[in-house]
Amino acid sequence: MAALPNPPKPTLSAIYAAYEAERGDGFRDHLGASLIGKSCERALWYDFRWATLQQFSGRILRLFETGNLEEARLVRNLRMTGATVLEVDPETGRQWRVEAHGGHFGGSLDAVAIGLREAPKTWHVVEFKTHSAKSFRDLGAKGVAVSKPQHWAQMQIYMHLTGLDRALYVAVCKDTDALHVERVHADRAAAERLLDRARRVIEAKRPPSRISEDPTWWECRFCDHRAVCHDGAAAESNCRTCLHSTALEGGWHCGRLDRMLDGAAQRAGCGKHLFVPDLVPGEVVDAGEDHVVYRMPDGTQWVNDARGGAPC
Ligand code: SF4
Ligand code: SF4
Repeated sequence: MAALPNPPKPTLSAIYAAYEAERGDGFRDHLGASLIGKSCERALWYDFRWATLQQFSGRILRLFETGNLEEARLVRNLRMTGATVLEVDPETGRQWRVEAHGGHFGGSLDAVAIGLREAPKTWHVVEFKTHSAKSFRDLGAKGVAVSKPQHWAQMQIYMHLTGLDRALYVAVCKDTDALHVERVHADRAAAERLLDRARRVIEAKRPPSRISEDPTWWECRFCDHRAVCHDGAAAESNCRTCLHSTALEGGWHCGRLDRMLDGAAQRAGCGKHLFVPDLVPGEVVDAGEDHVVYRMPDGTQWVNDARGGAPC
């Protein structure tokens, strides 16, 4: 006998659906400091260019929220030690924020703190992270720089752009609630290299080289952009994937329509959209003002045709 389908769970489904509806498209306006330590520069370019729509289930989005909720508790834990912890800038009432490269690169600090037992007179950038049990064990054994280089890079950027030279990394194990507390020293040279990397990504008209040409390489298997990068899947259609767009100081510019583009306009794109040629898995054989002709790997031609498209 065929197995009976699972009974519907409307309340559970509605909770997850609400998380999914709240999230929106998930595209960030800027290249995030939390990402800049990624191993693959090409993946950063795809992030910045909104090439792939990331779709997370309601359950995963709720898990992300758990990480955010943990922050308030960790602030309270640090205060229990006598430390002064500021989650927001008292002058603005908002999260501490750092920016560079005309606003195209930046991030928000979890907090800054002074009065820590290890160095009471020194202000620290504070970064909170939650870990699985396996990741937490690795962190304890190797330290954040080796175990979580992306988190280390994020703190280096925050220290560099705030002018602070110490950070406090506070990690919690999601399985046991054990804590890991580690001080990190500023490495100015590393921060400069990371800033250079961010600039390269922002200014690049074409995607940087792949970290591996083998789609089964472990970092590619876990990459959000694998389908676009290795499998010839179509990139998202928006201004960031359009060959007419350029990131300028303070915003994005459309060369076809000669106008600046706000976030909503970038998301909407327009009928004159033409893909950055590297996002099409074919060879350019002809082009005009509003079209590009590609020879595809199977020998057929594909015309990215915006001749009848309406500008926004
Ligand atoms: S699939 Fe691999 S090469 Fe492509 S962007 Fe991702 S990590 Fe980089
Ligand atoms: S041509 Fe249209 S899609 Fe392309 S950058 Fe300009 S407004 Fe955006």
